[in-house]
Amino acid sequence: MAKTISGDCCSFCGRSSREVNLLINGISARICDQCAQQAFEIVKENLAKSGSRLGLKKEELPKPEEIKAFLDQYVIGQDDAKRYLAVSVYNHYKRLLQDLTKDDVEIEKSNIIMVGATGTGKTLLARTIAKLLHVPFAIVDATVLTEAGYVGEDIESILTRLLQAADYDVEAAQRGIVFIDEIDKIARKGDNPSITRDVSGEGVQQGLLKLLEGSIVNVPPQGGRKHPEQKMIPVDTKNILFICGGAFDGIEKKIAQRLNTRVVGYAANVETAKVDRNNLLKYITPADLKAFGLIPEIIGRLPILTYLNPLDRSALRNILTEPKNSIIKQYIKLFEMDGILLSFDESVFEFIVDKALEFKLGARGLRSIVEAIMMDAMYSLPSTQEKELRVTLEYAKNQFEKSDVNRLQAGS
Ligand code: ADP
Repeated sequence: MAKTISGDCCSFCGRSSREVNLLINGISARICDQCAQQAFEIVKENLAKSGSRLGLKKEELPKPEEIKAFLDQYVIGQDDAKRYLAVSVYNHYKRLLQDLTKDDVEIEKSNIIMVGATGTGKTLLARTIAKLLHVPFAIVDATVLTEAGYVGEDIESILTRLLQAADYDVEAAQRGIVFIDEIDKIARKGDNPSITRDVSGEGVQQGLLKLLEGSIVNVPPQGGRKHPEQKMIPVDTKNILFICGGAFDGIEKKIAQRLNTRVVGYAANVETAKVDRNNLLKYITPADLKAFGLIPEIIGRLPILTYLNPLDRSALRNILTEPKNSIIKQYIKLFEMDGILLSFDESVFEFIVDKALEFKLGARGLRSIVEAIMMDAMYSLPSTQEKELRVTLEYAKNQFEKSDVNRLQAGS
């Protein structure tokens, strides 16, 4: 109902209080609901243009060191990858805040590619970054992508996810970040394009290249396959930051080959003699990605190349208890909600790590092992009067042996 302030009218459109739903009084002016709505749209549009729709000012941007400190709370180790990510995200923000009407130096975006064995934290890093962001963020899996015309999803569906994350606000989506997981799965098999032009490989890479380069792409709002009657939404990918991740299984061989040729070649020096054979990924270069089967154009559009370390015993041990929402903290919370105080002997953690290493399950396996140990207690304790559970090594071993260990191994 109209709020009546007799004789008053909107200072913007002149309509009287009787003609509008609501008239808001200021000190010396009034605004009606419709003008307020319009003003809101204008403000939104203008902020978007100037980049300050992020709701952040330059001084308020999280600095790379702060971004890394945030990542440290959730992700163990992987310092190099964290530093690269922190800098890239920070620069991404700066680009968005750049006023191109005044600046003649346009900062180009630097998409990132992270290489690391499965289960070392690539997705976790991406997800954690997303928590901190003030821009839409989407995670997509490259394995579902195919060239148009084949079964699977079209490349454009990557942007559908981003649009969905942005609540279909195209302007916001155009400034978002996309994490493309398993990018290695679209590599062509081998270095020689002529023998293995494969459906899922080079064609998809060409499609992806269009997105990475920055172009206007027609996106199906509901994703999936394109069909003629679906109305497309044009999205400009120029300002979208792409972070790619992949395990690149077997790339170590290519790195080793390259390093070896250098050792015998003229560039052989003391440095190459000290190669860390256990972690060849840290020597990765764009040439290795090419040897693995990424096309040079894609590599050129992913100028920031970083790697993740394999998780050793102490990293696995820390992952169990150190992150802000570590697996063990989550179980303690679950029991606490039933009024039960859960504790673990230190030797139990060592046992869990041993099993993860023994079954080659990596960090991903830690959860399954803890789950196997805790299942019985989670099932029966809530119905008892127990107020405390101390998990000893003996209890953990018994429970683990009772569980279907083979199933864990198969799941690796
Ligand atoms: P990737 O994407 O590299 O295959 P994920 O990020 O999905 O691996 O990791 C799988 C799980 O293992 C994560 O959910 C997390 O619980 C754990 N994890 C892996 N690496 C780390 C790490 N560096 N720090 C903390 N947890 C980790």
